[in-house]
Amino acid sequence: MRDKNKRTLMAFVFILVSVIGLNCFTLTYAATEKPAYKVLFISSYHAGFDTLPAQIEGMKRVFDEANISLDIDYMDTKRVDTEENYDNYFKFLKFRLDQDLKYDVILVGDDNGLQFLMDHRENLVPDIPIVFFCINDLERATLANNMSNVTGIVEGISLKANLDLAVKLFPNAKKIYGIVDNSPTGKGDASSFMLAADSYSDYQFELLNASNYTLESFKQKLASLNASDIVFYMSYFEDSTGNNYDIDEATAIISETVKAPVFRMSIGGVGNGLLGGNMVSYEEQGRLAANMAVSIIKGENPNDIHMIQESPNKVIFDYEIMTRYGLKIDDLPKGSIILNKPIDYFQLYKNILMPAIGILIVLMFFIAILIVDNMKLKAKDKMLYENNLELAALNEEMIASEEELRDQYDRLTDSQKSLYESEERYRVLAFTDTLTGLSNRTALMLYLDGFVIDESKKWALLYIDIDNFKYINDSSGHEVGDSILRQIGNRLRLFENKYAFLSRLGGDEFVMVVEREGVSNEEENLHSANFFVKEVMAQIEKVIEVQGLLFYLTCSVGISNYPEDGKDKAMLLRKADMAMYQAKFAGRSRFLYFDEQMELAFSQKLTIQNQIRFALSSNQFLLYYQPQYDLRTNEMIGSEALIRWRDGSGSFIPPSVFIPIAEEQGLIQMIGSWVYEEAANHARSWFEKTGKRLNISVNVSALELSDEQFADSFIEIINRYGLEPEQVAVEITESILIVAKDKAIAHLLRLKEKGIKVHLDDFGAGYSSLNYMISLPLDVVKIDRQFITDMIVDTRYEDMVRFIIDISHCYGLQVIAEGVETQEQLEKLRSMNCDIIQGYHYAKPMPFDALIEFGQMKG
Ligand code: C2E
Ligand code: CA
Ligand code: CA
Repeated sequence: MRDKNKRTLMAFVFILVSVIGLNCFTLTYAATEKPAYKVLFISSYHAGFDTLPAQIEGMKRVFDEANISLDIDYMDTKRVDTEENYDNYFKFLKFRLDQDLKYDVILVGDDNGLQFLMDHRENLVPDIPIVFFCINDLERATLANNMSNVTGIVEGISLKANLDLAVKLFPNAKKIYGIVDNSPTGKGDASSFMLAADSYSDYQFELLNASNYTLESFKQKLASLNASDIVFYMSYFEDSTGNNYDIDEATAIISETVKAPVFRMSIGGVGNGLLGGNMVSYEEQGRLAANMAVSIIKGENPNDIHMIQESPNKVIFDYEIMTRYGLKIDDLPKGSIILNKPIDYFQLYKNILMPAIGILIVLMFFIAILIVDNMKLKAKDKMLYENNLELAALNEEMIASEEELRDQYDRLTDSQKSLYESEERYRVLAFTDTLTGLSNRTALMLYLDGFVIDESKKWALLYIDIDNFKYINDSSGHEVGDSILRQIGNRLRLFENKYAFLSRLGGDEFVMVVEREGVSNEEENLHSANFFVKEVMAQIEKVIEVQGLLFYLTCSVGISNYPEDGKDKAMLLRKADMAMYQAKFAGRSRFLYFDEQMELAFSQKLTIQNQIRFALSSNQFLLYYQPQYDLRTNEMIGSEALIRWRDGSGSFIPPSVFIPIAEEQGLIQMIGSWVYEEAANHARSWFEKTGKRLNISVNVSALELSDEQFADSFIEIINRYGLEPEQVAVEITESILIVAKDKAIAHLLRLKEKGIKVHLDDFGAGYSSLNYMISLPLDVVKIDRQFITDMIVDTRYEDMVRFIIDISHCYGLQVIAEGVETQEQLEKLRSMNCDIIQGYHYAKPMPFDALIEFGQMKG
């Protein structure tokens, strides 16, 4: 019996330990293959619109699983509701589809986009199946659904469902208020609200029209409402003075002033002070639409897929607000989503607690048996007292049982201890990032809660993002990416101490919270802060080795300060994030402090993206040429094509501003194609006018070289215009080695094989290594302008330039010096045997017509 007990106990402990062990250490890696199918999602609005993240999240959940690649276009019709905007998007989409972009299914979100596709389908995408979702106008949805190859999902806000819920939860209310305004949405809301009033005759309905009040008077009005009534927040975008409010701002105003429970039927606000409501689930809309697209790709006929009319709505409530009104979770319909619910530790640790409780019960059972045993023994003891002979024997037995009892007690304490340990391990896991072992987002948020309370200290929040990390992941694989992130995590640990908190938010994003000491002297303080950030960046930028490969990474850092930039943790994070974004746009590999201007710049970025599309379709791009001068023959030897953008107002937007945005937004391929076509056309007309061949080099962005078709399309253009390959050169930078090394080199080899030349641009800037000279198929090295400037004032740079020229010649490469602005620089370069110069000293970039004149003058 005793042995059996022991074995059962051991088995339980074993099972407990293995369950915990498995949960902790199972990590799976999904193999990634190249998606075979492509879908395009056309959104009626812009990326910052409230419903978009959820829609995309819903689609991505399905498409990622099915390994289907998703492109997204934004029509931006909420902010720019003009014919011209629709026309531009039409041209833009047509242009791209003509570039042989093939989609298997098109998804379209919201009414404006669907109407657009219904109007233009014949001319744009006659044969591609269409799935629509989030459509409010049932009539429009039905018309679309009746078209061939079209199906989708309707979006219905159910005012009735919400009113039913509201009066059920608050049966004593007398009045129901509807907050609306004079915007088109607001007017629609007002009329459906008043229509509904008829069905609820026990209640008085009243509209509160924000457009009739100033902010202050509206706040007073809201504050005067009775706490026992009900408020519906439907639309509040403007006030009587023409001020605009977004949903967050309106929510803040309402939740600060209204004492009554506030219901909301659409996204935004719940979780930030509103009570809740029965609302459209945009994620669910996106997910269902994506499922339809997948069925179509798998071969189902879209005409056989029924339109979904029952909008997939969800009841969402805020727990904190619920308790304020004495509501319990059971009062809500089953399946409701509850936000801000305190963590239920039993649910969280159920997996450990259940087996542990099981073990405890079993142990108690054993103990009970032993206690009973013990009692029996004592009874015998009494009997034996009378019988001296038996006494000794029985006594012995009793001691043995007591020992066993103690043994069992010991084991009980042991297993209690192991229960505590596993609990501790779970707690650690909940706050730890499994990849790097650093704190995770949850831990960061808790930490920020702590310091936001302590107002006596000043802090800085550093938002760190690795540059171009996505390309490393895509080109070298996730395993390499993970290892890099771990190494970076370890390096950042060097800074973790009493004054600095370190965490990884996910992906390639790290956040540090640093106490700022010695705040009396602002200037000194800034100096030491800058120094600290530079130290952090220097750690990340040290070379990283993985599986014998060397990676030279940079990072961009955005910084927000507490309390200067705000006292709210979410706001501080957002501002640091925004500053980081600006640092990326300023050219990456740098840090920036948040300032109010950034908020503006952030929205400007979105505008630039739209403007680039417009510029492409309305000939706002121009191609300039900067002549190059041969130091041996003293003649013009060729020219570099440089893009210029003259916007509607006639001002020039520099390429350093829009090229990075175009790269980020996937528009660079289109810009590139335009440049090559235009340059080839010019080279052709030069030949027709002069009978001579003009040497032209064009700049190629690293991202273009990751495109499968690049070399083929490039060669096709050259052939089509009847150019000699030898008169054409591509200028690339070392960044191609980060973005798409193997593919890029294959493209370059193919161009070279045809006779097209390859120039390595900006040599000397960044991490230029002599290695590139050998490993890349090059003809020319272009020395970066900074070296030519520095060479005059610092002899070390002069030596460096001489060295680059000599070593290039040694490898049979020609050298072009860029940015030559003075005669002194020219002479110095000539004495070093430099082959060619380019710069303002010889000529500035000029339009093609001017180049012809320049050529006649110099030739
Ligand atoms: P880059 O390829 O290094 O181009 C040389 C830049 O130096 C040009 O600036 C040119 O106007 C400028 N420059 C030339 N000589 C002098 C000089 O003596 N002094 C000074 N201070 N500057 C001089 P730009 O045109 O503003 O172009 C900036 C960058 O934008 C280019 O750098 C290139 O990376 C990119 N870019 C320009 N056109 C294209 C294009 O068609 N496609 C792509 N992908 N990138 C382009
Ligand atoms: Ca260049
Ligand atoms: Ca350059």
